[in-house]
Amino acid sequence: MRLHKLALDDFRNYLHLEADFDPSVNVIFGDNAQGKTNLLEAIAYLSGVSHRSRYDRELIRFGADSARLRGQVESRGRDFLLEADLHRGRRRTLKSNGVGLKNAAELSGILQSVLFCPDDLTLIREGAAERRRFLDECIVQLRPRYAQALQEYRRLHEHKTRILRDSEEKPSLLDALDEFSYGMARAGAVLIHYRAHFIRRLQETAPAIHADFSGAREALALRYETVSTVTDPLASPREIFPQLLRHQEAHRAAEIACRTCLSGPHKDDLAVEIDGQAAKTYSSQGQTRTAALSLKLAARDIFQADTGEWPVLLLDDVLSELDKRRQEFVLNRIRGGQTFITCCEDDRLSSLLKGRVFHVREGAIV
Ligand code: ATP
Ligand code: MG
Repeated sequence: MRLHKLALDDFRNYLHLEADFDPSVNVIFGDNAQGKTNLLEAIAYLSGVSHRSRYDRELIRFGADSARLRGQVESRGRDFLLEADLHRGRRRTLKSNGVGLKNAAELSGILQSVLFCPDDLTLIREGAAERRRFLDECIVQLRPRYAQALQEYRRLHEHKTRILRDSEEKPSLLDALDEFSYGMARAGAVLIHYRAHFIRRLQETAPAIHADFSGAREALALRYETVSTVTDPLASPREIFPQLLRHQEAHRAAEIACRTCLSGPHKDDLAVEIDGQAAKTYSSQGQTRTAALSLKLAARDIFQADTGEWPVLLLDDVLSELDKRRQEFVLNRIRGGQTFITCCEDDRLSSLLKGRVFHVREGAIV
């Protein structure tokens, strides 16, 4: 898939932008705080992913009431005009070729992206929430059913958390508890099933990339950690559901006593090991970066295998951090799809890369 054109109005620090992109490599360079990351964020947004902000209002230019994004996309041999209109205090509208879309997952059905940025080191270093976010972001783009289940699970989880928290003052709230546990087990079984399958594909893909990357000196291993009573996470949601439900029932009294939701897929983790040691605790800076990038490039391969098309790859500020050998490795590996790479002005990298070059200054291409 390719993003041929992008137009922005009042998005972040862009008053108005129109850009025609190269089908393979696009280099976006400029000083700090000029709008390079914002441009990648706009592209990611049109693929249904908001990685940087929780609220659309943060994306609207300071002082403006709404923001517009337009993308001319080629996907599955067809052309699409993707549109997103964001407003303060009003719901956004999303469209494809003039037809309204229900949600972000429908954008992902047309345009997909994989983003790698310096913050992704947290993918290895930080707690399980970062890795769940990575899994969710990937699977949401691949499986609309997963997106639905995730939304449902989060809604129920929030609500049940509130019930448990407030139950001391208002014990009658607990009447609804079982209903929420039931719903969470049902949506949770879908999450576990899809996560297990996605992780299996990561296991088939990421270690080889990591080995190439590290010159075969390091072995990466991945493992899915989920609710202990689930005997086979790869099983169908129908089989996982009663196991989750039983687990919730077994923890019912404990949940009421400590007034929080205990275990469930909201505590899932993807354990990452390098040479048999937990990467989170022991890996060096370079190993961390290599492992994080391997996971992202593996996701890109999985997207391609799944849809037959390369997702758009967004590399924010990452190549300059790698040594020459690793830079070349990445540049060789990203052939095939369309890539957007940001780097700083004085970077010798901008001369090294072949492709269309965009100089960003103060929210404009100059
Ligand atoms: P760096 O090289 O430091 O990563 P960058 O070019 O990637 O810089 P961006 O992250 O794209 O910079 O941000 C550019 C500017 O956009 C920042 O100065 C930020 O204050 C500004 N900005 C962010 N959100 C908004 C908004 N909603 N309205 C206006 N400006 C914004
Ligand atoms: Mg940036």
